[in-house]
Amino acid sequence: MAKYNTSNLLESVVRLTSLRDQHSLEICLIKTLQELISAGQIRLFEISIESGKKTLKLLVELDAKRSLESETENTLPHCVEDDADLMKCYSTGEKQVSADDGSGVRVVHPITGLNGVIGFLTVRNGVYVEKDQAVAASFLHIYQNYLQLINDNEHDTLTGLLNRKTFDERIMAVMSARRAGRRASDSKEEQCCLAILDIDHFKKVNDQFGHLYGDEVLLLFAQIMTRTFRDDDQLFRYGGEEFVVVLKNVGLDLGVTVLERFRKMVEAYHFPQVGNITASVGVVAISEQDLPTTIIGQADQALYFAKENGRNQVCAYEKLLQAGKLTSVAPAEGDIELF
Ligand code: GH3
Ligand code: MG
Ligand code: MG
Repeated sequence: MAKYNTSNLLESVVRLTSLRDQHSLEICLIKTLQELISAGQIRLFEISIESGKKTLKLLVELDAKRSLESETENTLPHCVEDDADLMKCYSTGEKQVSADDGSGVRVVHPITGLNGVIGFLTVRNGVYVEKDQAVAASFLHIYQNYLQLINDNEHDTLTGLLNRKTFDERIMAVMSARRAGRRASDSKEEQCCLAILDIDHFKKVNDQFGHLYGDEVLLLFAQIMTRTFRDDDQLFRYGGEEFVVVLKNVGLDLGVTVLERFRKMVEAYHFPQVGNITASVGVVAISEQDLPTTIIGQADQALYFAKENGRNQVCAYEKLLQAGKLTSVAPAEGDIELF
């Protein structure tokens, strides 16, 4: 029997749209569907392309016989190609209903992004109830639209990189994760680095060619960043022509090598009309004892040194300290309140 009426449908929409991050949204979607429709098992999958294969990642699972889980060991398809219904849903973008194989009917709903199917919602139940699946499809649409809104809010419109607001939120998460990793005795938490990248003499680009060309340089610069750094690394537009990269599981020496490779890519790139530009970089190893303001301040000091000493170079804060070229500055008390 259907468990929905106007009042609880509206309440569910309100609850879903009160959330602000993707993971809470995923969990809320699955819990809502469990409350509203008859389902033995509900799963939410994300597709990622790895070595040419459409690999599946289980985001959330809810099994009537077990509690809500994010990870599970039982029979899961590893990639879309392994499962005929998932493959058909992927290529047609349409809901697929499997025949009952003894464990109930499975309905596969597509999750659609800008470039086609990006994931699936699968609902397994003893029988197929058309109205339940229509409710599931509608909630999936609300989830998709809302996810797009959250995504837009986190990104910079010009470059598509994460924006400054997201940086402020995420740097806190990086620091807490590092502190937690350090506390867990069995964890071998790798180092992370933070770098500030600043285009050299960017004002001249605007003055000489106009803001439209300036904007195009920023966009192309961001694209070089996306191509050069790994998917795991977090890329932000921090300000006008300043960018921040958080390099995951990378020590300072490797960080400098990776950033140096990026600097050379920029130096060699021919920007339409504008020609060649260069960038300066300040990098620091993230220490879990430090405040985000201290880390940014140290990377900024290294960047300032790079600018003062010829630009077009990567400077590491710790190396400048060791060489006696910089002195360490304690954070001003007021800084703490900034984050
Ligand atoms: P330096 O080598 O010392 O970094 O010099 P610079 O000219 O790059 O630095 P400065 O901070 O003096 O100038 C930054 C310029 O970036 C000034 C501003 O007009 C421009 N800018 C900031 N945001 C944008 C934007 O969104 N689009 C464009 N086209 N220009 C921008
Ligand atoms: Mg600049
Ligand atoms: Mg600047």
